[in-house]
Amino acid sequence: MAMGIYPYFRALSDSEGVTATFEGKDVVMLGSNNYLGLTTDPRVRKASEEALHRFGTSVTGSRFLNGTLELHLELERRLAKFVGKEAALVFSTGYQANLGAISAIAGKGDIIILDKDAHASIVDGVMLSRGEMKRFKHNDLEDLERVLSKSPEEAGKLVIVDGVYSMGGDIAPLPEIAEICKRHGARLMVDDAHGVGVTGQGRGTMAHFGLTDEIDLMMGTFSKSFASIGGFVAGSADIIHFIQHHARSLIFSAALPAPNAAAVLAALDIIETEPDHVARVWKNADYMREHLKELGYNTGNSNTPIIPVIIGEKYKTALTWRALIEAGVYTNPVIPPATPPNGSLLRTSYTATQTQDHLDRALAAFKKVGVDLDLIPTADPA
Ligand code: PMP
Repeated sequence: MAMGIYPYFRALSDSEGVTATFEGKDVVMLGSNNYLGLTTDPRVRKASEEALHRFGTSVTGSRFLNGTLELHLELERRLAKFVGKEAALVFSTGYQANLGAISAIAGKGDIIILDKDAHASIVDGVMLSRGEMKRFKHNDLEDLERVLSKSPEEAGKLVIVDGVYSMGGDIAPLPEIAEICKRHGARLMVDDAHGVGVTGQGRGTMAHFGLTDEIDLMMGTFSKSFASIGGFVAGSADIIHFIQHHARSLIFSAALPAPNAAAVLAALDIIETEPDHVARVWKNADYMREHLKELGYNTGNSNTPIIPVIIGEKYKTALTWRALIEAGVYTNPVIPPATPPNGSLLRTSYTATQTQDHLDRALAAFKKVGVDLDLIPTADPA
């Protein structure tokens, strides 16, 4: 802490999405989930402002009682159509969506099988469900097969994976996972918090693989590409109706405020009519991945706008984080238990609105810090 390398819970004094002010320094932001850069889009801001003026700052109640606005229902219809499912249900955060939906659909006697890297909100949802949790090795189809084969045939089985993994930036092999689930009579849920808005021309990882009908339930969040806060699940009308009446995180918590719902609707309009935003985030990420690798960094198995820069030892990772801040770049350090031992990394993520100048400034900082801290080979002077 005294050395200034403790990186958590530290405040930004200003943030405009692509750049931010951290301890008085102007930094290029490589740590946000604002993939499409829509948090500052004038149309999103305006829609949110108009809803603020019309509905005020809070709905002061649960969706179950006074907290449902027609705006929520319109958003649910739009989301269902956008991802290609019959129905959708909006929660106040993505965390609550996973918590409520999973604990509603799974129960005592059921077996819920998670990828080892599945998000904490999925794990918490399973714990609340009182079902039995089993894990399989990350993206390892043989291990999934093994876990399913060992599960009693008569038990209800639910497999849950992320569409895009939040730290590694790799995509789940959904076609193979869906096939295995089908063969074992297991239901399949996909947390697409980092996929929706990015993969499948913005429609998510189910659409990316053309698998919309094979996946029983998808979850998405508004706190990333959709420039707001909140989350949703989408599936058949029956499943959504059931979750609506059983999800405790929906029923016993206040609904999403109107300005946040309106921001998502505006973001959806933009994603549906202007494919450029999705194309640009991929272009920026591809450029950075290629050049980070060229500098000599290990970017793991990333093939999305989330690019981990794997440093290894956690103290060294904290030092690298600090040196990058000094060089004008903000990244998110991730250490065990969120990574394997000695797999500490700096999570970088990219945004459609970053310019070439932002990206090149970041690369210059990675080059300087990498050489100074002996993380990458020194460039050949010849
Ligand atoms: N699932 C995944 C994979 C996530 O990365 C996150 C947020 N980091 C969530 C769920 C929770 O979403 P929210 O921030 O909307 O609560």
